[in-house]
Amino acid sequence: MNQTADLIIIGAGVVGAMTAWRARHSGLRIVVIEQANDVSMGSTKANSGIIHGGYAEKSGLRGKLCYPGRLMYPELERALNFGFRTTGSMILAFSEDEAHGLEAILAQGRQNGVDDLELLTREQVMAMESEVNPAVSAALWCRGAGIASPYELTIALMEQAVEAGVRFFPSTKVKAIDPDGGTDGGIRVTCEQGVSNQTVEFTAGHLVNAAGAGSGVVSAMLDDGDVRLTFRKGEYLLFRKGSGERINAVLFQMPTALGKGILVTSTVHGNLMIGPDAQNDTDPEDTATDVSSLATIFREAMRSVPRIDPAHLIRTFSGVRAIDASGDFVIKPSSKHPRIIHAAGIQSPGLTAAPAIAELVQQQLNDAGLPVSCSWVDAPRRPIYGPRNVPTPELKERIALPKGNPERIVCRCEQVSEAEILDAMQRSLPVTSPDAVKRRTRAGMGWCQGQFCRPRVVEYLRDHALEAPGGILETEDVAHSGISRVRGDEFKKAIRELG
Ligand SMILES: Cc1cc2nc3c(=O)[nH]c(=O)nc-3n(C[C@H](O)[C@H](O)[C@H](O)COP(=O)(O)OP(=O)(O)OC[C@H]3O[C@@H](n4cnc5c(N)ncnc54)[C@H](O)[C@@H]3O)c2cc1C
Repeated sequence: MNQTADLIIIGAGVVGAMTAWRARHSGLRIVVIEQANDVSMGSTKANSGIIHGGYAEKSGLRGKLCYPGRLMYPELERALNFGFRTTGSMILAFSEDEAHGLEAILAQGRQNGVDDLELLTREQVMAMESEVNPAVSAALWCRGAGIASPYELTIALMEQAVEAGVRFFPSTKVKAIDPDGGTDGGIRVTCEQGVSNQTVEFTAGHLVNAAGAGSGVVSAMLDDGDVRLTFRKGEYLLFRKGSGERINAVLFQMPTALGKGILVTSTVHGNLMIGPDAQNDTDPEDTATDVSSLATIFREAMRSVPRIDPAHLIRTFSGVRAIDASGDFVIKPSSKHPRIIHAAGIQSPGLTAAPAIAELVQQQLNDAGLPVSCSWVDAPRRPIYGPRNVPTPELKERIALPKGNPERIVCRCEQVSEAEILDAMQRSLPVTSPDAVKRRTRAGMGWCQGQFCRPRVVEYLRDHALEAPGGILETEDVAHSGISRVRGDEFKKAIRELG
């Protein structure tokens, strides 16, 4: 197979998807190539989901793009209905030294143009967040920070991009790039696709490297030395639905040299989440979790919120930050090939900055001669699921309904109906694994973690999944990859033993 395009984007994380989404109505032939079987399978899937205030980063593109990115989120939510809420955030100080530190961060924020920062006294903090450790002495409040569902954002972006004509190739791994080897002197990209590793080629005049942890490898294929990555893992604990509802804002501790420290937050779906730590020089593929790191995170989080019940833990996970040697995002034309733009080394706050990153990439493509434009003309995207409050007797009746009835409840913990499962599977992106269904509908996200609904979801996949090069994967992504994650019961036992 040989496909010709005007623009190739490597990587369907939030950066690649946002870039494709912005460009979707440019009248250009755009191709997005992704090695995984779904969008959002790199660091975009496993992060804190915080839309940061924009005060923390001192300089460079990370400092410059965070706040403008944040400002675009309310409008993105109205267009895409993916799950974003302005909650505000607090950095909590527990000593006089830390309280002084807050003043420096406030000054930094003002320098970055952030205009909704305020220092709070202990009494103000406790009035706003009754669960916070009463030993708190002060906090820095950022009114406009928020929380988002990063994978639902990326799904929504790519769904709308594909509906507008962008072509998406999952299970397709870029193996080689010849910057002048395509037809008419275009860029030739050679890939391996699907379970059979079939060779496919793409040719285009322009290319964006948004390959996340793989962006250094892509840069090496170009031999331009522009992206040199190391990897920093962060682990998390996620608690049952409803557990996050007693926390209003995102609660940070004082930042460290390695990042923003351990946070306590609710997810947009009301789960309490704590993490991440910062483990330097890890393997980019290593998203395992371990009891000792999780126990440290748990203890650190209890400095902010002393009442966290380990019995409510449902899942542990981790994500890997791709850190460039410059310490900054690398968003620039390749030093050897000006029609290739790097959007690489997008560590934190890359989710927040993504809308502004895509805008900058668009400008750089324009400068390189590609007439990419952005227009927001689509009707708001229909969300996949609605409110879930089915009373117990009705829930039981609907669980017992036969397959083929749209009212049938497939996932009892999250109350997901057959109609919602089929809607998710029949949109513009191929949905080929139980986890892909889970990310779109929440089937399998609840207390039993899919033990009840996974066999039912697999039946729907067998009957209804759209054809895709990677075929259907019937197990969880994690089980399939052989990654080991600490289970809820293992962690609870370890915490009991540690006292
Ligand atoms: C622990 C942690 C916490 C974070 N918390 C926050 C936060 O709270 N707020 C915030 O703003 N940011 C946060 N971030 C940062 C944010 O997650 C990232 O900046 C963002 O997800 C980067 O997106 P990306 O599209 O560049 O990369 P990715 O999401 O990694 O996407 C890159 C894609 O490229 C694909 N790919 C790679 N190589 C190839 C190849 N050869 N061929 C085809 N495809 C390829 C990958 O499969 C992947 O899907 C956090 C990150 C981590 C790890």
